[in-house]
Amino acid sequence: MVKNDCRSGYGWDTFDHMMIRTGIGFDAHRFAHNRRLVLGGVEIRDHNGLEGHSDADVLCHAVMDAMLGAIAEGDIGKHFPDTDPKWKDADSLKMLRQVVALINAKGFHVVNVDSTVIAQSPKIAPYVDNMRCNMAEVIGVAADRVSVKATTMEKMGALGREEGIAVLAVVTVEHI
Ligand SMILES: [Zn+2]
Repeated sequence: MVKNDCRSGYGWDTFDHMMIRTGIGFDAHRFAHNRRLVLGGVEIRDHNGLEGHSDADVLCHAVMDAMLGAIAEGDIGKHFPDTDPKWKDADSLKMLRQVVALINAKGFHVVNVDSTVIAQSPKIAPYVDNMRCNMAEVIGVAADRVSVKATTMEKMGALGREEGIAVLAVVTVEHI
């Protein structure tokens, strides 16, 4: 029988020596009038923006959530409460920078980021490389470690009806 009692120290001891950890992130925002659309720090003009307390950069938010998940530090709601005026219309790249600082303070660095933007519109292909560069610069890695992919919902459901945008992200971190 495998001994796996946290109180004995066995479980935590092996956990602490794991060098690689992975986190998953998800976020969704609905479209709103009179808002800028910002994804991965790139402003996409001539399209409705997203509702939210900060700049509603749903891509940065999902990536931040995945980073926090990798180090088991809760979610972005815990670190950036939407009741805090400090984050009103905040640049989400600055919030991302703060999460990266937390990861580094815990002795980790980011290995890679993968993300999928789920949106019927806009088409983000022309902006993807700028999004990758923006996030890579803040994270402190080369752009080839930050992936941004796009898909639609084939017109199914709320996202398919162009009611908003959702993003899935996975982040791997490594203990230095
Ligand atoms: Zn969000």
